[in-house]
Amino acid sequence: MSKRYRKGELVIDALKQVELSLDKGQLIAVSGPSGSGKSTLLNLIGLLDQPSAGTIELFGKRCESLNRAERQRMRRKYLGFIFQNFNLLPVLNAVENVELSLYGHALSKEKMRETALNMLRQVGLLNRAYHYPRELSGGQQQRVGIARALVHQPRLVMADEPTANLDTKSATDIIELMRLLSHEIGTTFLVSTHDPRLLKNMDREVTLTDGVLLS
Ligand code: ADP
Ligand code: ADP
Repeated sequence: MSKRYRKGELVIDALKQVELSLDKGQLIAVSGPSGSGKSTLLNLIGLLDQPSAGTIELFGKRCESLNRAERQRMRRKYLGFIFQNFNLLPVLNAVENVELSLYGHALSKEKMRETALNMLRQVGLLNRAYHYPRELSGGQQQRVGIARALVHQPRLVMADEPTANLDTKSATDIIELMRLLSHEIGTTFLVSTHDPRLLKNMDREVTLTDGVLLS
């Protein structure tokens, strides 16, 4: 697929005929310098944006021309998102933030709470379930972010520079946690990073340079 942005007179080819296929259960790094197209690639595969040309197939379904509502349905059911700045809602505590991914999944309030608490246990944060984001460290906030991204058992998780705002120890722990969870529950992770320290823990690395992908 290709992605072209237009900004006034300026034309930017952010992705140039990128071809990529992802294997189930792998932890895949997308590396490359700032501006090389990593976020654009994750946004397209995450169905947050549409390619200018080409096709996207997720779990046997062609997605490039789905409308907004259909893309949202696919995201809620099959995809998870982890962010550089954690993106937790400050007015909700940890377990409530995790529950956000469970709305629209037809669970009772009790079942939703139980499921979210179980997920917090898996990321080692059960003892912080009722803490608010401001009461948590960066590493702990990102664990909540991971719990929220995984609680609805997505098949594919997009993580855009998930460790950029963490110290080395927390960053290494977070990558290790993603690796454990990807192998345990068979979720595929697509992780953008330009941090060489994190790349060694990945199953596979693809590199973007000026919108061109090298596998
Ligand atoms: P990375 O994530 O690797 O830093 P991006 O995917 O964010 O790279 O950006 C790739 C290129 O596309 C950059 O040149 C950037 O300036 C441009 N770009 C990204 N988003 C937009 C947008 N919404 N409108 C116009 N240009 C954009
Ligand atoms: P709603 O606002 O009705 O919750 P959204 O489109 O915001 O619907 O969210 C649908 C799914 O897409 C959610 O699981 C959400 O976490 C995910 N998502 C992740 N990042 C974004 C984003 N940048 N924009 C929209 N949705 C996103």
